[in-house]
Amino acid sequence: MPELPEVETVRRRLQPLLEGRTLAEVEILDGRLTRPHDPDEVAAELRGERVDEVARRGKYLIVRFASGRALLVHLRMTGAFLHAPAGSLPGDPHRRAVVRMDDRSDVAYRDVRRFGTWLLLEPEEVEPYLAVRLGPEPLEDDFTPEFLRERLRGRRAPLKAAVLDQRTVAGLGNIYADEALWRARLHPRREAGTLRRPQLELLHGTIREALELGIARQGSTLRDYRTPDGAPGTMQHEFAVYGRLGEPCDRCGTPIERIVVGGRGTWFCPRCQRGR
Ligand SMILES: [Zn+2]
Repeated sequence: MPELPEVETVRRRLQPLLEGRTLAEVEILDGRLTRPHDPDEVAAELRGERVDEVARRGKYLIVRFASGRALLVHLRMTGAFLHAPAGSLPGDPHRRAVVRMDDRSDVAYRDVRRFGTWLLLEPEEVEPYLAVRLGPEPLEDDFTPEFLRERLRGRRAPLKAAVLDQRTVAGLGNIYADEALWRARLHPRREAGTLRRPQLELLHGTIREALELGIARQGSTLRDYRTPDGAPGTMQHEFAVYGRLGEPCDRCGTPIERIVVGGRGTWFCPRCQRGR
């Protein structure tokens, strides 16, 4: 599932293709994408909108229009974009939408598992919608160790589950949570409210490091996720723990273990990450 680094990679590829351009034609081929709204009505509303900015908040891709409206795209499991000169897209049974831009290029959205969503919001709806769902951006200044402390204080939930809450760290998902906890030498099942200040500061830093490395490697390529030009990211070759069951820990050589925390597969080093 695309997390912050993967969505940021998509954003950076789409930005020069979309910004300043107008959506000339919009075809939404799958009603699930815009549920509960009618796909043809959403397509009609999008037609003629001019793209001001391609932004991101957490795992949401935000296409902001000159009208003040915004299209919030959540890729969920397998959503992806492809870009090609008009009429030259290859056939694709998983295509869910096609947008023809005013420069005669096509931007197609494909989604094998069909969990992705497109939500068109009116200008006054955009910030409130995001504000109730997302905490601060982890790479921005308002994400601080103090904020993390406030969010985790008194919580008995496992640490991994607590940091996956998008109101704690926007954009952090299963992969980069495991990587950040390994870097901080913290057990994923540790009670979230028991971290002391040095550990909170350490975790704050390792969340950023894990995400920044992911962005630098243009995300990871797992299953059906690809960057918009079809190129694979390379982050999956640098995971310290995620998906590495039985392989030696990079730090101590102990075989990586897999457990389930909060319903999510979780990889960790049983030697480096003690003290649950
Ligand atoms: Zn280790």
